[in-house]
Order: sequence, then C-alpha cells, then structure tokens
Amino acid sequence: MKIKIGQGIDFHKLEKGLDLWLGGVKIPSEKGCVAHSDGDVLIHAICDALLGAAGLQDIGYYFPDSDNKYKNISSKILLKETYDLIRLKGYNINNIDSTVCLEKPKISSFIQEMKNTISAIVETSPDNVAVKATTAEKMGFIGREEGIVVFAVVLLTK
Ligand SMILES: [Zn+2]
Repeated sequence: MKIKIGQGIDFHKLEKGLDLWLGGVKIPSEKGCVAHSDGDVLIHAICDALLGAAGLQDIGYYFPDSDNKYKNISSKILLKETYDLIRLKGYNINNIDSTVCLEKPKISSFIQEMKNTISAIVETSPDNVAVKATTAEKMGFIGREEGIVVFAVVLLTK
C-alpha cells in the first residue's frame, strides 16, 4: 500500500457584515471572510492538503480567483472537484485532521456538523475527519479578530 501525507494552510481577512462559512456550515458571526469564493477557509486548507498529498498543484492553480466562474462559489463544490482530482490519481482518504485558529465566535457546537458535511463530500466516515479549534490568546492579527487561519493535514492511501 502506498501512503501519502499532505498539509494545507489558508488565511482569510475578517470583515463585518460578511457570512462566515467553515467546513461547509454557516456560522452565526458578526464577521465573515473576505474572499472571491464563499471564503470557507477550512475547506480551502483541506483542499490544499489533499492536492499536496496527491502531488498536485495548489488550490489557486485549479480554481483561480481571477476566474469569474469561481466568484461567490460554494467551497463545497471546490472540495468535491478537488476530491475528484485525487480519485483520478487513484487515491483514497485515510483521514483528515485540521485546526481552526480564530478568536471569535466559539465554533465547538458546529464541529460535528462540519465533520458530517466534509466527510459526505469526500466519501468517508465522519470519524475520519477531525476539526479542532483554538484561539491565538488575543495575540496578533487573529487575536485582534482581523483574520482567521486554518491548518490541515491529510493521509491518502492507494
Ligand atoms: Zn481561502
């Protein structure tokens, strides 16, 4: 069996009055991500981890923000298209792990729904998808609620 690991990271700026999408779930929040797509920073980090593990290029290569086709697109579609790319290379998902770093709001009550949503798209069990949350202890751009960052790792098998 061939095993491949991949890592992904994504940053977005937060602004008042925008929707906050995380893991395909709309989270009640005063601020949301500034983005060309729906700004689902968690899904974007997972896409980059999947692409990296399969030895492909980054999310911006496949879904350029200069392309109007991707304007306001649901990132769930990007995840599905990314999953199709790794399936084309013959890979299956063993597991996905991720950490969302943001100051506000608390997202713990939405994590199971995120796991269910992501796992359904990538045809695996919710138990194979982990979403963890942390703050930056009020430090830096995350602490000032100016932005959000997500780290993701995946393991693929063939
Ligand atoms: Zn992004």
